[in-house]
Amino acid sequence: MPFWDKKTETLHHEKLEALQLKRLRKTAKICYSRVPFYRRRFDDLGIKPDDIKSLEDISKLPFTTRQDLLDNYPFGLAAVPLEEIVRIHASSGTTGKPKIFPYTRNDLDNWSELMARELYMVGVTKQDVVQLIYNFAFFTGGFGFQQGAERIGSMVIPAGAGNTKRQLTTMLDLKTTVFSSTPSYALHMAEVMEEMGLRGDDLSLRIGVFGAEPWSESMRKKIEFGFGIDAFDNYGLSEMCGPGVCIECEEKSGMHLWRDHFLPEVVDSEGNAVEKGELVLSTLTREGLPLLRYRTGDLTAFVDEECSCGRTHGRISRIRGRTDDMLIIRGVNVFPSQFEDIALGFPGIGDSYQIIVDRKASMDSLNFRVEVTEEIFRGSEVALRDLKNRLERELREGLCVSAVVELVEPKSIQRSEGKAKRVVDLREV
Ligand code: ADP
Ligand code: ZN
Repeated sequence: MPFWDKKTETLHHEKLEALQLKRLRKTAKICYSRVPFYRRRFDDLGIKPDDIKSLEDISKLPFTTRQDLLDNYPFGLAAVPLEEIVRIHASSGTTGKPKIFPYTRNDLDNWSELMARELYMVGVTKQDVVQLIYNFAFFTGGFGFQQGAERIGSMVIPAGAGNTKRQLTTMLDLKTTVFSSTPSYALHMAEVMEEMGLRGDDLSLRIGVFGAEPWSESMRKKIEFGFGIDAFDNYGLSEMCGPGVCIECEEKSGMHLWRDHFLPEVVDSEGNAVEKGELVLSTLTREGLPLLRYRTGDLTAFVDEECSCGRTHGRISRIRGRTDDMLIIRGVNVFPSQFEDIALGFPGIGDSYQIIVDRKASMDSLNFRVEVTEEIFRGSEVALRDLKNRLERELREGLCVSAVVELVEPKSIQRSEGKAKRVVDLREV
């Protein structure tokens, strides 16, 4: 697939690492000299930015957490005078209080460049019509895609979130070829498309870029089939820039993480390097909000093999969920994404689900409420019971904990325009 910036995307490993080291040292110096919070952390650990002599030395640096951002709300971690700040974004607040993120002009420029790199890589060109189905208030998603697609020269439609029928008629009338939304909303659009008597073939779509929440291979297949498109996973978070941190290439096996702007680590809960664990990111070019070793809370692993596409920026695997999504059910660790992996591939099972956790007489109960297809719903009792039993068995084997399956009517679980809410935890803490 095409390169937007071939030289950078295929930079030799040694050169890429040298660039990272140079930028890491610079970021550490800026943090130390301009952000009192970091100076205190460095001093407490008895280290100086000059102690970073190799990339491995990053392990000497302090971690930064979401709580640190909240404690320093609003501008405590900003590393430039406020007059240099030209834009503010804020987190969608899926997990509590909002955090705010200041950008300088260079930050916005780097972000646009990364988004152009990503979109061009999955095949978006000047000829494309790109419809962005994100909430354009505070949230980074839509803006990042807008900036990147505009840099490429595509025709951009900032359609906003929701109003599904209008999204689809816009796609039809303006001949949209590329769209981006959360994967759960894309599935919802596919349902509404069917209700409107439209088929994937009636639209001009060819590419979809999805992210902002965890999704599975079976969801990808459903989206690709429903719209007749190629669907790509893309990951990012407002703490780094928003989308633009990494994306899949045509191999669709892991996302290339842009090492010229971010330095990734994968750690366990104690912060030690591990193969599979929490992604930790340091910014390498960020001016407004440089962050060292930010604990993303997102679970992933490095993909070791070189990629056939020729890009030297190593990949990370699909995000499995967040550390704080983990449910502990009767002592067993369970992630919502595991339900999706097991259930959505089952014939007769629909697209939407909810996991309901409760505690009765000090015993945790786990209910998996999932929609079935129209055909199953209208079919025989026996078939329904059989499906329930089989799914319960698979879940018990896959999760090592038993769950009660509740098969519900198609389209009965509430849809979200942005990130889907999958877990309802009724246990008292
Ligand atoms: P928040 O949701 O915490 O308010 P953001 O709007 O910045 O903040 O969302 C970033 C978070 O969204 C990531 O930390 C991650 O948990 C999730 N996310 C983003 N892209 C993906 C993806 N492709 N797969 C799984 N999770 C994702
Ligand atoms: Zn690749």
